Amino acid sequence: MDIFKISVESIQVYKITQENFDEATKKQAPWYQPINGHDGWFAVCPACDNPVQIIGMMSREKPFGKHFLSSQASMLVPLKGIVDNDEYEWCPYASKNKTLNKSAQRHADSKVGLLIRQTLLEQFDRIIYLLEKCLGIKITLALAESMLRDYCAVEGWRYRGATRQNIPWIFAYMMQAKKLYGRIFLKQGLLLAEELCRKRPDLLCNQEHKIVTKTEKAFCDLTFSFIKHRRHLDGETLSESMELNIADSRQQTVCSKIIPFDYDFFFKLINSKDETYRNGQLLRLAQTFLAG
Ligand SMILES: [Zn+2]
Repeated sequence: MDIFKISVESIQVYKITQENFDEATKKQAPWYQPINGHDGWFAVCPACDNPVQIIGMMSREKPFGKHFLSSQASMLVPLKGIVDNDEYEWCPYASKNKTLNKSAQRHADSKVGLLIRQTLLEQFDRIIYLLEKCLGIKITLALAESMLRDYCAVEGWRYRGATRQNIPWIFAYMMQAKKLYGRIFLKQGLLLAEELCRKRPDLLCNQEHKIVTKTEKAFCDLTFSFIKHRRHLDGETLSESMELNIADSRQQTVCSKIIPFDYDFFFKLINSKDETYRNGQLLRLAQTFLAG
């Protein structure tokens, strides 16, 4: 992996460089400690919370993180992170090539699952804001509530493809198809709205950028959903995406758009100290579904 964090609780994620590592740890133990007579650099995997060792910190141009849990040595060295083989097996950085499907679930009491749920609870308003920007569709309070309902019904935090860094997108991914009629497209989604109206001449994106039927009282059968969660490890760099799919009542795709997961955007947002734009209404909503 090409990124690290310094504790399970931390939501600050850094690119692996010697400078970032020194700055984040101040070279203190247990991050910086000799092992078997050699220098050792240790951190925590931002996706699965297991301990990682940084390889080639001084010798390589691009040092990288490697999960550190299988050998006996991990028992002897005090480390940050939670040693959990099960989480490691499914970690997108472990290149185990496990096939993801929605029925592959982690244990109900998994620490990673609980932490995902906790972040969603505390950051729900920002997550909705991020999704609006990434999807280009307005998420009303009613839609947010409906998404929360779907997410809780399937216990989305237990999905094996859910990690500490893809929380917003997987939250949306768990959503059951919703009606498209009356949805407002935002600036980022206008191209998609145009394409949709070209393909479906019975529809119109009106002045408010709302999808309506040209003839009043006409029925719009379209729904939108998120399908095809994909993850790909290119060298040490992870990329993930899902598809925003608009389909008709015969389950035929009318148009679709690939949504890449932008981890930097997410971490920047949840680490922001600016509380001006927090949305109490959304936070209270998340509280009613996710607390306890
Ligand atoms: Zn991991």
